[in-house]
Order: sequence, then C-alpha cells, then structure tokens
Amino acid sequence: MRALLRFRHGVHPPERKERTAALETRRMPYPPEVVLPLRQHAGKPAIPLVKAGDRVERGDKIAAADGYVSVPIHASATGTVAAVGLWPHPDGSYDQAIRIAVEPWSAQAARPRLVPEWRGLSPREIVAAVQEAGVVGLGGAAFPTHVKLSPPKDKRIEALVVNGCECEPYLTTDHRTMADFPDRVLLGVRLMMKCLGVPKALFGIERNKPDAIEAIRRALPGDIDVEVLPLTVKYPQGAEKMLIQALTGREVPSGKLPLDVGVVVQNVASVATIAEVFETGLPLVERIVTVSGNGVRKPANLIVPVGTKLRDLLDACGGLSDDASEIVSGGPMMGVSQRDLETPVSKGTTGILVLTEAEAQRNRTYPCIRCGHCLDACPVFLNPQLLGSLALKARYGEMEPLHLRDCMLCGCCSYVCPSHIPLSQIFAAAKTAIRKAKTTEPAKAPA
Ligand code: SF4
Ligand code: SF4
Repeated sequence: MRALLRFRHGVHPPERKERTAALETRRMPYPPEVVLPLRQHAGKPAIPLVKAGDRVERGDKIAAADGYVSVPIHASATGTVAAVGLWPHPDGSYDQAIRIAVEPWSAQAARPRLVPEWRGLSPREIVAAVQEAGVVGLGGAAFPTHVKLSPPKDKRIEALVVNGCECEPYLTTDHRTMADFPDRVLLGVRLMMKCLGVPKALFGIERNKPDAIEAIRRALPGDIDVEVLPLTVKYPQGAEKMLIQALTGREVPSGKLPLDVGVVVQNVASVATIAEVFETGLPLVERIVTVSGNGVRKPANLIVPVGTKLRDLLDACGGLSDDASEIVSGGPMMGVSQRDLETPVSKGTTGILVLTEAEAQRNRTYPCIRCGHCLDACPVFLNPQLLGSLALKARYGEMEPLHLRDCMLCGCCSYVCPSHIPLSQIFAAAKTAIRKAKTTEPAKAPA
C-alpha cells in the first residue's frame, strides 16, 4: 500500500465550517416526543415489537432486525408508545415509525444492563453485540456495521480505513467526535481491528481539522499500528473510493467493493459508537448532529436522541432566523431538502442546515452548452453531460452501459455546471426509475 494522499478530479466548495468547528459537543434537552422510523438503515426495515400504550425505557429494544442486513431499533427515551404508523421520513416520503411520548420528569437513566467486557469476547461475539446494539454507519448511508465487520472468508482484508474526512461543507460532526472523544474513537478502532483480524489501521483526516489530527495523534496507543494521514481538503475526499485511493493508492474497480482491494472503510462516528456500546452497554440511541447555516440562530454540535423532531432540534438551537429559507438534512452537496418540521433525526442524520435565500442559491436552469466542466469534475470519470441528456429523455437503458451505477450522487457535476443543471438529482431520479422498473418487470416464462 502506498499513500497518494490525493485523488483526481473533484471540486473545492467553500467549507463554511467556521460557525461550528470550534464548538464543543453538548447534549440537548429531551424533547416531548421522539419518532423512530422503522427504516433508518440500509437493508430491510426493522419489525416493531411494541404497540400503543406500552411503557418503554431508554435503550429498550422496540423493533427487531429483519434478517442479516438489518438492525434492531431501541427507544431513545423513556416514555409511552403513542402510536405505530405512518410519519414523515427524512427521505421526503411517509413511512412506518414508532412514536414515544417522553416522560417529562424521567431522569432518562437506562435500565441497569451488563456492559460486555470486550477483552474476553471473540470477534464473532463482538460482531453479534454490535448488531444487537443497532449500530450502523453514521456518515449518512447507515449501512449495518456488523456486515462490514464480517467480510466473506475468501476476501483477505489487510487494513481498516477510518474515515475522518467530513468533506461536506458546514458539517463538523466527525470533527468534534475526534476532537472531543479521541480515546473512544481509538477503542473503536481497536475493536474493529480485532474483529477483522487486520494488523493496520489508516486514519484519513482532512488538513482543515488540525485539532482533531492532534487529538487523535496524542491518544494513539503504542500497541496497535494506527497511522494518521492528513489529507488535501477537496470534495468528495470522504467518498469510500476516493479515500481508499488517497490512503492506499489502490483503485476500487467499477462494480467492486472496498473489500475487493483488501480494505474495510468505516466512518469515525460509527467507530466511536462501537466503542460506546462496550463502554456503556447502551445501544445506538443518540448521535452527534451539526446544526448550522445562517438560517439558525445558535449553531451547535449537539448530542441528540435519535427520533428528535427537527422542530425540537431547531428550538434547542435558538430557532430560525427571519431570513431562513430552506432546511436540509445532511450537507449542501448530498443532503435532502426537508419539507416538514415533524420529520425526525434518524441514525444517518449527520447535520441539519438551515440556509438563507442567499445560501440556498436557487438558480434558473439553462440548456447544456457542452463546456465539459462536469467531465473534469466527476471523481469517478463518468460523462455527466451525456448521462444527463439521456436521463432527460428517459432513455434509462442506455445509461447503464455508461456506468450510471458507479455514480455516487456526489453532486460535483451539478456544482460546476454553468447552466445550473441539477445533474446529480436527475441521476438519483434515474436510479430510482431503473430500480422500480427492475422490481416490476414481469417474470420470464420458462422456455
Ligand atoms: S454525481 Fe455522479 S456523475 Fe456527477 S460528479 Fe458525482 S459521481 Fe460523477
Ligand atoms: S457542465 Fe453543464 S453545461 Fe457544461 S457540459 Fe456539463 S451539463 Fe453541459
């Protein structure tokens, strides 16, 4: 493995992290109600175990994993189940969710539980505990962590790559996790290395987080091989394929996974959550969320119970400014606009941005002028201009041979397009249309 510390193409959007980068993480008060969607991880949604009227305590399992690529969901606050039913989902749809009316005077202490002593556990037992705690990737994709920790036997994993890049503008969740909880992060690294049986971990952190780099370096234990590599500030440095290329010099081929080139990548906040399971015995019931943008009065990095509604989260940050215009879940490059303040924070919510009219930049769209800027920006070397023209004519079948599936919806092409064509949104819609067409295709008659 030979670190290149860079990748080709990509863009340099304004970082806009200054409002929260230096703010220590603080805990928000418990809201009056939490809403836990059953679908908040990649894979099958969880199956509810509770019904209206049931009393639950913080940390109780309220929905079970449905199969291997799925995780359970736990009550993020003590209270009474108000309902199980449809509710606004962070992806803009309505989906099944468990609503818990939070007990106003509860100390929110979790039931006494056994804290597993990780040193005595086998890798298989650690992985089972991680699944039972409902741990998923906290970088946005929410892929179940136990699946990543159990690569197929025929794949030889040589290194763990820890993703501390946080290249999306505004977001400082991972930054503060590293700066405020470096020992926890490194315990998580140790646990992951044990599960994967790898001798080395590579830590990628963008150079714009010097205090996080310093904190992790200072906390490095002497008995495991962990290397911290400061990286160029460039978007999307935190995308798995880009990060692997920068840290190892290896390229993940089209249609392949990181484990095909001998690495497993995990976001730093998820790594810290693995450690927390073994420190406290508590499952994943809260996460750090950056609340920022000029449309919110008191930006913050908050520890938030999963299921907190946007309304309550924003109230904990002083409310909206008079010129607030758009609320986005995630960063401005890949985030999803939110229409309803009743929508809850899920396990995958990295940040909530409140943008003013000036920040939201709603530009008029013009026809493509074939300038080629999108080709120069695409980090996976696709032809967004051609893909975009096919998508607009619904010629989806012709997009697949042009490697649409390699598109990570990073938004670099949209960002540089002088005609303001929302290319990545068009590709997201095309992917959904192709997926739907495949699932509704009539089965072929036997020959
Ligand atoms: S959104 Fe897709 S096509 Fe556009 S730059 Fe990113 S990977 Fe390339
Ligand atoms: S950047 Fe926009 S205008 Fe330029 S080629 Fe790509 S789609 Fe066309």
